[in-house]
Amino acid sequence: MIELSFDGNVTDQRRTVFERSAQRWDQVINTGFDPIEIDGDILSGVRIDVSIQPIDGANGVLGQAGPTLLRQVDGLPLVGIMQFDQADVASLEAGGRFEDVILHEMAHVLGFGTLWDRKNLIQGTGTMDPRFVGASAAREFAALDPQGGNAVPISNTGGAGTRESHWRELVFGDELLTGFLSGDQRPLSRLSIASFEDLGYEVDYDGADPFVLPDFRRLAMMGITEAVRICDLCRMGRTEPVVHGAPPAEPPDGL
Ligand SMILES: [Zn+2]
Repeated sequence: MIELSFDGNVTDQRRTVFERSAQRWDQVINTGFDPIEIDGDILSGVRIDVSIQPIDGANGVLGQAGPTLLRQVDGLPLVGIMQFDQADVASLEAGGRFEDVILHEMAHVLGFGTLWDRKNLIQGTGTMDPRFVGASAAREFAALDPQGGNAVPISNTGGAGTRESHWRELVFGDELLTGFLSGDQRPLSRLSIASFEDLGYEVDYDGADPFVLPDFRRLAMMGITEAVRICDLCRMGRTEPVVHGAPPAEPPDGL
């Protein structure tokens, strides 16, 4: 269960977009758990603190999204943030991309790409062929591409926050959770849902969108190339989550 907490600047129309995204993820991921008290708030789901504020005007920084507090028992998110620059939000809305950006970034708050390293789900880090090794995702990838190998190709380009925290663009094309918003449908595949099962969530595959791997011609028609291009999602910063209730790091003992 995703609980949204909005700052005062988020308009009703924009709240509705966040609420629809939360409902979409709640359809496919069970984020409910035994209640925990955080800052006087009894949480039995993930709380996402949403804000839309002036940051640095259009372009530049788009915002920041990710988990900020993790449950000790399973390392899954308890609290996260989604912060956006209001000037950029206006241009995403004008371009019809706002809702998919919110849906995409909410996945990062829930752990997609942001908790993979922590949960040892990446193999070949730093190489040209990094892979996601979760068993459920590997099974779904094998269904999409029987010759694709026993782990899922993840992004091998881009800076921190893009590289190794998305599905690989030139393999998965317009899937919602590649590092670029390509095409105009952006399906949420069984593969993506499976990756949340690998993180430790209970999931429901019935909510997946139909998805097949695109061929090269379709990739080209979507405008996907290896060249540097407009990347809204690359302008998002990430968080460094801490574990709830964990003792603070030991100070060095002076030796
Ligand atoms: Zn992303």
